[in-house]
Amino acid sequence: MAFVSMKELLTEAKEQHYAIGQFNINGLQWTKAILQAAEEERSPVIAAASDRLIDYLGGFKTVAAMVGALVEELSITVPVVLHLDHGSSAERCKQAIDAGFSSVMIDGSHFPIAENIAMTKEVVSYARLYGVSVEAEVGTVGGMEDGLIGGVKYADLHECIRLVKETDIDALAAALGSVHGKYQGEPKLGFKEMEEISEATDVPLVLHGASGIPADQIERAIRLGHAKININTECMVAWTEKTRTMFKENLDLYEPRAYMTPGIGAVKETVKNKMREFGSAGKAAGAREMKV
Ligand code: 13P
Repeated sequence: MAFVSMKELLTEAKEQHYAIGQFNINGLQWTKAILQAAEEERSPVIAAASDRLIDYLGGFKTVAAMVGALVEELSITVPVVLHLDHGSSAERCKQAIDAGFSSVMIDGSHFPIAENIAMTKEVVSYARLYGVSVEAEVGTVGGMEDGLIGGVKYADLHECIRLVKETDIDALAAALGSVHGKYQGEPKLGFKEMEEISEATDVPLVLHGASGIPADQIERAIRLGHAKININTECMVAWTEKTRTMFKENLDLYEPRAYMTPGIGAVKETVKNKMREFGSAGKAAGAREMKV
């Protein structure tokens, strides 16, 4: 299967001051939109399945087979990472790797740092056997994600340094004020803390909860070391608004293809716009591929 690790992609993105978008999968048509957007924009792409949605999507093997088959059938030539978002345990990350995912996030952020480090280490040592990249998180991204609600807790600089040093992860999600889902008011990221963490850890940073963050703050986050930016809510809102409008105009619709397609077009447009905003459009050619 032609998925690639995100390690080299993120290193290159960080060096060249752009970021690669992670777009969450919410079904087959959704995945097709993400892949076609990447191909048309000549952008590397990270297609992610959230651990909390894995069962809904049919299980790890189904997700890996579905994304892999679409890459082949749609003749996708840009680098595609298949990533597990918010892996809830080392066991779940191993299951994803066994099914063919080329990247995993182990989210031990709700545990004390020693436990977070221990879980992350276990995942890194397994992932290394297969050339799979690993992301970990410190602090708490607030808001609502896949039905779960939480408050913001800023990442602690010393915990970030410890985690990166002791685990050798490929990417760090340091929570600095972003939230999953819709923002109440203007998002305010902790840029001072971001600069300190980026300098001290020297690892590509990941921005979770990036939907709704204005372009100038995104640009600043990229300049300060973010090489991966996660988008889910904006795609979901684009799909829902388009679909709602369509049903308002025609209540008699009943054929899924008729009412799915326009919303999926809106997802594709959203993904393409993000790829241009993050600077990853046109970067596929130069990306160093690492086959898993
Ligand atoms: P949003 O839903 O806020 O875009 O966040 C996505 C995300 O961070 C997935 O991990």
